[in-house]
Amino acid sequence: MKKSIILAIGNELVEGIILDTNSKYISRKLLDFGYKTIAIKTLPDDMKILVEEIKSSLKKADLLITTGGLGPTEDDLTRESVSKAIGKKLVFSDKIYKSILEKIKKFHREVPENVKKQAWVIESAKVIENPVGTAPGQIIDNIIILPGPPVEMKPIFDKALNYIEKGEKIYQRRVKFLGIPEAVLVEKYKDIIYKHDINVATMASHITGVELRFTGERKKVDEIVNLLKEKLSDYIYAFDDKTIEEVVFEKLGDKTVSFAESCTGGLISSKFVSLPGVSKVFKGAIVAYSNEVKENVLNVSKNTIKTFGAVSKECVTEMAKGVCKILNSDYSVSVSGIAGPTGGTKEKPVGTVWICAYDRQKDVYLAKNFLFRGNRQIIREKSSLYALNLLRR
Ligand code: ATP
Ligand code: MG
Repeated sequence: MKKSIILAIGNELVEGIILDTNSKYISRKLLDFGYKTIAIKTLPDDMKILVEEIKSSLKKADLLITTGGLGPTEDDLTRESVSKAIGKKLVFSDKIYKSILEKIKKFHREVPENVKKQAWVIESAKVIENPVGTAPGQIIDNIIILPGPPVEMKPIFDKALNYIEKGEKIYQRRVKFLGIPEAVLVEKYKDIIYKHDINVATMASHITGVELRFTGERKKVDEIVNLLKEKLSDYIYAFDDKTIEEVVFEKLGDKTVSFAESCTGGLISSKFVSLPGVSKVFKGAIVAYSNEVKENVLNVSKNTIKTFGAVSKECVTEMAKGVCKILNSDYSVSVSGIAGPTGGTKEKPVGTVWICAYDRQKDVYLAKNFLFRGNRQIIREKSSLYALNLLRR
């Protein structure tokens, strides 16, 4: 396996203003190309530090990746630092400058003098066009230089991968579970999970549930994954990079869906809409936070709320039916819960959430009650996750 090091560059990163998400994307992808990332460093826009780090990283890794610091302003120094560290000149490219000017003019913006800076490339570097912004990526020897903004970094990096020497690929499968605690899963199914001598990693998160990662010989990994599929299909919602949103999206096919959201306040919609092409299946959502909106917009009966409360099976069922009809969808899901920190009672403590999935054509619903632990944000995240999961069923 080859080794890679990622340098995430920018004062805003070391100052804690921005979280480095680029490295996560990069290291994950590199695995597929046979590179194990041995270090991720966040560094300031400081030439001396950068030159030192670039030099020392090149001694330790087969591939070095930098993100950030390619902007037009004085403080962006990555280009210059790489050039200095490897002893290669920067040359001005008329071609790049022309394409930058065209891009800026397309948006009818004034052309600032300092964008010229972005047209400098390291001598003999392979230039990779930036489909979003102005600074192109560069590959020079075993160094990939990428812009900082994630929307620019991703497409350039994806393209750059075509030009690197591949390492020996390791085989990895990820299995994602919901509705079974990590400790229970690992304890109860240890004979399967640890059946072979391969690397097993477990991870639990309130945003994605429990994940098991198996790395090793293909035959052994596949055997374990297949056994888990057989035994735990009720709990497994996805494999590898797939998210719950994608699974639901695919499952819907040509059917449509709508959401009625109370405590999630639009979070389910927001997650779902992050998928491109979702307009094909997503009708819309009603954020019915108050009882008034539940009654007047979603047609939940006054009596239901008075008798059972807004966080009840009866209420979510009527919410799901209501939104499905109003927004004219084939399926719907509704959520009503107590996200806290206040509002809990003895019978319905903070974290109590009712979720209902509804199939309009068959007129059947599936309502479930949950008690989630965590703070307000975690409870809302979990509610969204489990709502989409209920829809998947
Ligand atoms: P720009 O032309 O925008 O200045 P740049 O290549 O110089 O491009 P930076 O200045 O380093 O990039 O970063 C620009 C913005 O991109 C940052 O303010 C931040 O929002 C985002 N960004 C940069 N690096 C990262 C990172 N590692 N992870 C996530 N976001 C990042
Ligand atoms: Mg910058």
